[in-house]
Formats: sequence, C-alpha cells, structure tokens
Amino acid sequence: MSAIFDSISEPVARRVTAGLAKIGLVLRSRAWKGAGNAGVTPSQGHALALLRDAPEGLRLAGLAKLLCISAPTASDMVNVLAAKGLVAKQPGRDRRSINLVLTPEGEASADRTREWPDFLADAVDTLPAVEQAGLLRGLVRVIRALQVNGDIPMQRMCVSCHFFRPYAHDDPLNPHHCAYVDAPFGDRHLRLNCGEHQLADAAEQEAHWQRFIAPAEPPASTAQSNVR
Ligand code: SF4
Repeated sequence: MSAIFDSISEPVARRVTAGLAKIGLVLRSRAWKGAGNAGVTPSQGHALALLRDAPEGLRLAGLAKLLCISAPTASDMVNVLAAKGLVAKQPGRDRRSINLVLTPEGEASADRTREWPDFLADAVDTLPAVEQAGLLRGLVRVIRALQVNGDIPMQRMCVSCHFFRPYAHDDPLNPHHCAYVDAPFGDRHLRLNCGEHQLADAAEQEAHWQRFIAPAEPPASTAQSNVR
C-alpha cells in the first residue's frame, strides 16, 4: 500500500538538494564575513586552503581546475595573493612551469580561513557517530557522481585511490583497507582530500567502486586475499 505522502511529497533528491542549497547559502554568507576579517575574498580563501593541503605546491593549471575557474582567472587571483605576500611562485620541476606555494603569512591566513565552516562542523557533530559516518559516505557518493558528470574535477578521495581496498575485512566497523598505511578503516574515516592519494587507473577505480557500493559479505578467507 502506498503511503499518502508518496503522492504529495517532492522526490527525496529534490528535498535533499534544497537542504544542501540552504547550507550552501549559509556557508557563502559566513565565508564572506570570515573573508572580510581575513582580508581576502572567499575564492582567495578557498585557494589558500587548497594550497595548504598541498605542501609540495600546485601548478596554476591544477589550482584553476580545483577551483573550477579558468586559468586566466586563476592567474589574476594568484597575482593578487602574491602581491599580498600570501603566495610565492617558485620554479617548477620542468623549468618552464611555476609552482605555487604558501608563504608563512599565507599559511597563517589559510589556517584562519579553515575556521569559517566550524559552525557547520558543530552542527554535524550533533549527529550520532553512525549518522555522521552515513552522511560522509553519502557525500562521497554524491561527489563522485558530480565528478563522473564532469561537474567538478577529480577529488583526492579514497574511492578513486590506488591504495583503496573496499570491504577487505570482515570487521563491520573497519571493513576497508588502506594499502598506503597498511591499515583497516571504516566509512567514518573516508578521506575527501588525502595527501597520499594516488589516482587508480579507470578499471581499478570501477572495480573498487562496484565493491564499495554493493558490498557482499566477504568470507574471512577472501577478505585477506583482497589486502594486497
Ligand atoms: S592513501 Fe589516502 S586516499 Fe588512498 S586509500 Fe589511503 S587514506 Fe584513502
């Protein structure tokens, strides 16, 4: 029997999207407020945060891709950040390229910009641990779908990582395995931007993804064979 609410409710995906849009609005307004205090724009703050997560530095094209902006726009932004003494341009590996790194002042500013979304972290923290892990897993799936559709660039998430071994263990709390640190982990540990991420090839990504989204209960004997 179908519930009356099935016929009078908007599809769940639309209501979730409306909820995310509300959160996005609040984030934007907080970012502007925080940016004003830090003397940068929200986009500049985002660039600083990305460079903070890449201690080895980023090339201009890489930064533009992560920010979803054109290379000329990224170049203008970097010039402003360099003029403020927050970003330094260093020679890249092949002499013609330029590597962007944070100056000490830039690192301090990036640390301040990381505090903008703290209010949201506090709200998420009100959820029970199991719901937080479920939310994180759901976000990973949404972000991957956006990547596949070409709406956002590739993110350094576990699900696209060469070292990811989904459901390699029969421990329900820590079923996955990271071959980089050679340790089990659970959904609550899934990374969205891991410094050790190494992009898996397409076939490997697809195999890992299928296992991640449709986990069969692996018998203990095959669990170990998945840890390589
Ligand atoms: S190296 Fe990082 S991204 Fe890759 S599986 Fe381990 S924790 Fe996840």
